[in-house]
Amino acid sequence: MDRYAVIGNPIAHSKSPWIHAAFARQTGQALAYEALLGPLDGFTATVHAFRAAGGRGMNVTVPFKLEAYALADRHTPRAEAAGAVNTLVFERSGILGDNTDGAGLVRDLSANLGCTLAGRRILLLGAGGATRGVLLPLLGSRPAALTIANRTVGKARTLAERFTVHAAGTGLDACGFAELAGRRFDLVINATAASLAGELPPLPPGLYAEGALAYDMMYGHGDTRFMQAARADGAAHVADGLGMLVEQAAESFALWRGIRPDSAPVLAALRRQLDAG
Ligand code: NDP
Repeated sequence: MDRYAVIGNPIAHSKSPWIHAAFARQTGQALAYEALLGPLDGFTATVHAFRAAGGRGMNVTVPFKLEAYALADRHTPRAEAAGAVNTLVFERSGILGDNTDGAGLVRDLSANLGCTLAGRRILLLGAGGATRGVLLPLLGSRPAALTIANRTVGKARTLAERFTVHAAGTGLDACGFAELAGRRFDLVINATAASLAGELPPLPPGLYAEGALAYDMMYGHGDTRFMQAARADGAAHVADGLGMLVEQAAESFALWRGIRPDSAPVLAALRRQLDAG
């Protein structure tokens, strides 16, 4: 049976084995998918051992996405742009590195949440790995403007400069949180790690245009402080990142198996499971 795994540290709470088992059942694919705790000083050796034991591919999560990029022999354009890899495909000729996070986010926004991206003003909070992973697919959906805001402003500026070449007709700029005062957006995406610590980026009030969506990449802990504050600040719609998790998994599954699962029922079942505690 074809073997796959997700590798991370920590990994015990990963939902990926459950999601991929559901995809496999739904599409009639015979495969095994496990969670591997990657040693902090032994990522590469663990990946090679899994491949040597017959592994066909892996998902990679925190903190190994940069090491996975370095390990891959070649990259998809979106992984190349991100400089980070969340999906490894073990091919006869070597290891392909892809990054499905951005495609997962865009699909969740457009297919699951009905959010139009073309022509809209997007605010992306954070300048870490998650932001790097989603910038190319977001720019590819042709928003009118995309602003990257980060606590450490220099990191946001570096990213904006690096992705200018992909911006086409999108106005791409970077700033700190305080400089957002007086600006309004149709979509605000929280890609900071603030929610993980129960914190909130210090955002000025009045960010949300009429009908705007506030999206927190964090998932699994109910409404975050970002989501609560967005509602109070007038966001018409609020969502967490569970859909992104399921959609990036669907994208990896399609890459490995050549068949795209129907993610909607899997997302609904996972949501019910998490809501039930
Ligand atoms: P990183 O550690 O790479 O980046 C952290 C970012 O958050 C930096 O920009 C940092 O700012 C900022 N930050 C951290 N704490 C605060 C705070 N208290 N206030 C304001 N800014 C803060 O993390 P990742 O990019 O890998 O992950 C970010 C989030 O995205 C996590 O919650 C993660 O769970 C989520 N995620 C969700 C996915 C999904 O499928 N739904 C996929 C990938 C990520 P500074 O540069 O100033 O330090």
